[in-house]
Amino acid sequence: MIRANSGEQAFFGHPVSPGIGIGPVFEAAEPALVISHKKIFASEASAEVARLEEALVRSRHQLTKLKQRLAGLPEQSQAEISPLIDAYLHMLGPSRLIRGIKARVQDQLTGAEAAVQAEAEAQAEAILALTGSDREGRMRRAEEVREIGRRVLRNLTHQPFRSFAGLAPGSILAANELRPADAALIQPTNFAGIITAEGGADGHTAVMLRALGLPAVLGATGVLDAAAPGTLAIIDGTEGSIILNPTPDSLEAARVKLSAMTRTRRALARLQRLAAETRDGVAVDLQANLELPFELPMIAESGAHGIGLLRSEFIFMNRENLPDEDTQTQIYRGIVEAMDGDPVTIRVLDWGSDKDVEALSTYLPATEEANPALGLRGIRLLLRHPALLETQLAAILRAGAAGPVRIMLPMVTLCTELHEVSEILDRVWRRLKRRGVRMAPKRPPLGIMIETPAAALSAHRLAKDADFFAIGTNDLTMYTLAADRGLPVGSKLYDPLEPAVLGLIHHTARAAIDAGIQVSLCGELASREQAVPLLLGLGIRQLSMHGNAVPRVKRAIRAVTLAQCEAVAQSALSASSADAVRAILKDV
Ligand code: PEP
Ligand code: MG
Repeated sequence: MIRANSGEQAFFGHPVSPGIGIGPVFEAAEPALVISHKKIFASEASAEVARLEEALVRSRHQLTKLKQRLAGLPEQSQAEISPLIDAYLHMLGPSRLIRGIKARVQDQLTGAEAAVQAEAEAQAEAILALTGSDREGRMRRAEEVREIGRRVLRNLTHQPFRSFAGLAPGSILAANELRPADAALIQPTNFAGIITAEGGADGHTAVMLRALGLPAVLGATGVLDAAAPGTLAIIDGTEGSIILNPTPDSLEAARVKLSAMTRTRRALARLQRLAAETRDGVAVDLQANLELPFELPMIAESGAHGIGLLRSEFIFMNRENLPDEDTQTQIYRGIVEAMDGDPVTIRVLDWGSDKDVEALSTYLPATEEANPALGLRGIRLLLRHPALLETQLAAILRAGAAGPVRIMLPMVTLCTELHEVSEILDRVWRRLKRRGVRMAPKRPPLGIMIETPAAALSAHRLAKDADFFAIGTNDLTMYTLAADRGLPVGSKLYDPLEPAVLGLIHHTARAAIDAGIQVSLCGELASREQAVPLLLGLGIRQLSMHGNAVPRVKRAIRAVTLAQCEAVAQSALSASSADAVRAILKDV
């Protein structure tokens, strides 16, 4: 906290949802839960289970009502929040959580409240103890289990939930912590912004607040102690700052910033209809990456033409059994139909290393690998379990009846991997054809991710058999520099602008151009507008990124000429460090 003058105080937290909010702060507190830990007699067990069932019915009813209320929210927010509520509803059904709670009541004669609390905590802890580096994903899932536990407990004990009713319209909602289910209750038109003392930048709550479009700063330690009810505050969700009791100068500065932001937003929205081409008319194909289906409406609004990377992992996560061919077909088909004739590039399951999939844990090597990123991952693992691959390929081929699809393989290192998959694809294609199943009119293009140095260095050989390349700079950087992609920014070891990485991108692009196949770049680097001139200069004409980034990247493309881009790429390739490359990009 910084004390700027006698009245004004500044706090900093995670900038979670951009925008400026000005208004009085009001806190929404939640009454503490009081739980009995009494043991029960065996004769009481069935009555206790009946009480639990009642609480489950009430919890399901509340969530179903909440889902209906979502109809009043903007479309994008609905699309983000509904899958979460569906996940909650699923957990309230015959899930592992509920089975575990009932077993505690019936076998250990624990009272329902204590059983709910203990089982939810045990399952959350088990999720957190899983290995792999998707720590944030595990923390989110653990929090979802705890959240459902708290809901059932409140319904068992008839203790009230948090309520936002009674807070003055236009106020800034403050809370020690907001859970995703709380965020789902917020009517965005009622508030100027949200601040919390706890909470991270990438949790579900953050995702929802972004979807609600409300400026939000989470995890601003100490802010609640300093803000008496009604204190005037300015929050800046882009920078992550909160100013309490602002001076007239600070207020004026915030208002100026607010109108500048409104102008930028309008200008970016106008870009949607304009072509993604350089000043001298070189066209660039902008596509979107899709990680979860809720992003679909955002993609439609972004101006992207097609999905350049559908990360299919989400279909396999957070479930106890594997999705069968029909289930997968339905999901892919829904996405293909929503893209309305634009191509959808579906990457087959990239699992292993930091992407763990609980339902598949039995397929992983019996002894834990010392170095999972260098072991069985992506296509290597799928080729060990061809039945999984065949099911996924069949589902993609069937979804191809609804519109253009392309199939993409992750983590390729060897030409033989592509050959093997191509043979499997032929086999699946012939099998479906024999059975007269409706599917893509011809065998869809089969392409590969270039995300290992081996694949980049073999690009000329791979280009003979691959129908297209997609450069995955996230992994390509990691494997080239021998630096984990999960390392904190400050470590400086992991940097996609290192000339060694740029050299491999260039080599890959050249190989694709020589062979006459398409090459796109779909790692996070594609969404960095400063890198646009460099990537175009290296020969890339197709970029795939998070939908939100499309307008900014398009603006960067429209600002340069190809000659400028090629000059930038030439200098960058012979630069001695990522910092030197950054300096070159600054001067464009
Ligand atoms: C990449 O590695 O750049 C990529 C796009 O794949 P993912 O981030 O899913 O590993
Ligand atoms: Mg990758």
